[in-house]
Amino acid sequence: MEHRCYRGEFCADHEKVDGRRVGKHINPASGLCDTCARQVERAIAELPADYAALNLILGKGSTVGGEPVRMTRELPIPLRPHVEALQRDMVTETGLWAGSVAAVLNHEWRLAGRVRPGWYLDRSCKLLAGAQSVFLALRDEKHVRWEYGRRVLVTRDGLDGALEMLRLRHKARLYLGQTRLVHKLPVPCPRCEAMALEREDGSELIECSECARRYTWSEYETLCLALVDRKTVTAV
Ligand SMILES: [Zn+2]
Ligand SMILES: [Zn+2]
Repeated sequence: MEHRCYRGEFCADHEKVDGRRVGKHINPASGLCDTCARQVERAIAELPADYAALNLILGKGSTVGGEPVRMTRELPIPLRPHVEALQRDMVTETGLWAGSVAAVLNHEWRLAGRVRPGWYLDRSCKLLAGAQSVFLALRDEKHVRWEYGRRVLVTRDGLDGALEMLRLRHKARLYLGQTRLVHKLPVPCPRCEAMALEREDGSELIECSECARRYTWSEYETLCLALVDRKTVTAV
């Protein structure tokens, strides 16, 4: 049987089969294609900074280190409970998966006393980042979660956890996007050809929001020149 990236139609390197979007064809030993695995890695690495940035838009100040976020607009008040719920989700989910990974690695994972959520998130993400292959290989993990005010037992694989990390990061970016000034660039990404190149205001780095490839400004200029050349050639 064909083995494809677990992200299915949302795979960053998705393919078309009979007009349908499917995950990239990959080696049966892995669960995600390389690009999606890289995106998960980045999501885990950046969740703590997103959490801190969300604190800033709530007017709470930063609890973990990281770059201060430049804001161009205040957060609309009705969004506040959603942002707080997302932050709780970030802390809970990463904590649950870090606990599972710690159990496989035989690491002590209990924390003494009450700790600040931002700090807990930071610690969970560091553990997950350092053991991503263990994380992705987890099978049938049982976690107790709160869903709609009730405690429920859920059974999930590490790959579900990985998708959860992407979802959290995506949501955080969505909320932060309301306050960060992002410039969309008018040329397609050379790697995935999506019109998804973005540059944050004041940043030197350009990033594709579709495949997560990053470009420096000089790479971007070279790309634009190449496109102009191509147009001249086809125009002739
Ligand atoms: Zn993929
Ligand atoms: Zn791309």
